[in-house]
Amino acid sequence: MTESPEGAPAAPITVPCPTCGQPSLFAPGNRYRPFCSERCKQIDLGAWAAEDFRVPSDIPPEDAPFGDPKQQP
Ligand SMILES: [Zn+2]
Repeated sequence: MTESPEGAPAAPITVPCPTCGQPSLFAPGNRYRPFCSERCKQIDLGAWAAEDFRVPSDIPPEDAPFGDPKQQP
């Protein structure tokens, strides 16, 4: 009842991968949806586990006693 085979081609539904932003196939065939691949799914899960998505709002980087590590040679 939900399908209407009236000539309209079943266009693949894609959504932006939450990890890399690449279009990922949002279909039962994509077991990693909404991610584009297993790697992106694992990366996202790992990031959440490490709380990398937490917004650092309490400690300004300027107050770091040893400076920003990214600016070290
Ligand atoms: Zn991806």
